[in-house]
Amino acid sequence: MNKNNVATQPGEVSGAFLIGMLQSFGATHILPTEQIPFPVNGLRAEAWYPYDHLVQLNRLIEEQVPHSNSILFWAGVRFIELWYRQGPGRHMIRSGLDWVYCNDKGGGYNSVVRGEHIGWCRNRLTDEAQGLAWVENVMPLSPAYLRGIFFGGFCLFDDMAYFNTEVDSVTNDAALPFQCTVIKLIFKKANPAISANRLAQLRNWGEAAGQLSAQEAEELLWRYRHQLNLSTLLSDYNEHIADLTGRAFSSLHAITDQLAAANLQLASEATTDPLTGLHNKRYFEREIAAKLNFARREQHPVCAMMIDIDHFKRFNDHYGHLAGDAAIKSVADCIRGTITRGSDLIARFGGEEFVVVLVHIDAAGVHRVARKIAAAIAALRIPHERSDCCAWLSISIGSAMAQGATDIQGLLQRADEALYRAKAQGRNRHVHADGPAGPA
Ligand code: GH3
Ligand code: MG
Ligand code: MG
Repeated sequence: MNKNNVATQPGEVSGAFLIGMLQSFGATHILPTEQIPFPVNGLRAEAWYPYDHLVQLNRLIEEQVPHSNSILFWAGVRFIELWYRQGPGRHMIRSGLDWVYCNDKGGGYNSVVRGEHIGWCRNRLTDEAQGLAWVENVMPLSPAYLRGIFFGGFCLFDDMAYFNTEVDSVTNDAALPFQCTVIKLIFKKANPAISANRLAQLRNWGEAAGQLSAQEAEELLWRYRHQLNLSTLLSDYNEHIADLTGRAFSSLHAITDQLAAANLQLASEATTDPLTGLHNKRYFEREIAAKLNFARREQHPVCAMMIDIDHFKRFNDHYGHLAGDAAIKSVADCIRGTITRGSDLIARFGGEEFVVVLVHIDAAGVHRVARKIAAAIAALRIPHERSDCCAWLSISIGSAMAQGATDIQGLLQRADEALYRAKAQGRNRHVHADGPAGPA
């Protein structure tokens, strides 16, 4: 089909036709309403719209359900039901045979489209005795959908014992603006001599056994054949819908997984300092209370340690901000490398300042840890020409012991005061609030 040609077809299509096509996908949610290239909500059954609407709608359907003939087929069945009940169908046809002939002069199609040089539909050949008819359609609708439409036409009436449709041929002629699809109708008229009562009786084999005429046997055979065909068509549809639903669930699961991973990432970013990879102040403030509570329950002493790089402003001014960042990262690595107990808490408190909370430790232990951190940093031998306390980058540490489970502010304040004293006493050292100062 030459889609470029199709896109500029003149002519009009009735709102009933468009609404029917839209609704033929019912509650399957296969058609994404937001992708339909014309306003759907304002459509009126009795109004006329550009024929291109039909072409565009059909293109969207082809995109959304490209390989499921059974879904398209049953959409076609439902479509003709709507056309019959809401459109002009009821005034045109009253029986299955009417339906076969209704397109003899393109009547059905012409009732819902108007204008020249657009598609059409007509009977090519009808052989009533054989129960065969060929209907030729020149229009954009897909062969499976068309097949469903003609099948659906027979469904409307109860005068056929058997009916079926097949796609006879599909021709894509470059000279034609649409594809030409020939649908073969196969039908067996119900035997009018067999009453509804008799039919019900025949269906009950026990009652009818041995009293079956040849005509009745034939009628039953056709009807059972039809039921078998119908159940096959329905189970194909169910299979395809299940497949579609399964795929929708899979992609939903994939999206949920991605969302969960993204949330995890976000949560970790919200509590991690990007430069050092240490926890940030926000995380520290969230965790410190739990840490103190836990320590009190276990009757473990807790120590907070404030660590601050000495003369870091001068370092930055002299070596540049990038070198400053690298130094902060190195100090963080040294702290992390020294404090290895999982129960301890390390965070970048801000700028060039870190906080460490040590659990189950005494004053001697605090001094030991402080010395180890200072030694690890000294071992890096990061030159600091502008420092007046050391030739290398150094730190000062202030520490204090917690005096209760709720002593957060007091603990940090005493550690900070100890740090201030360490700075005042010449930097590059450790001062413990509850004991004598010691060399870091
Ligand atoms: P003291 O020995 O008394 O602590 O002096 P100081 O210069 O280290 O302290 P001050 O608080 O005056 O300056 C801290 C400096 O740390 C100021 C700022 O330029 C630097 N700084 C803070 N955060 C960062 C950072 O993320 N990257 C870098 N490169 N520098 C930082
Ligand atoms: Mg500071
Ligand atoms: Mg400092």
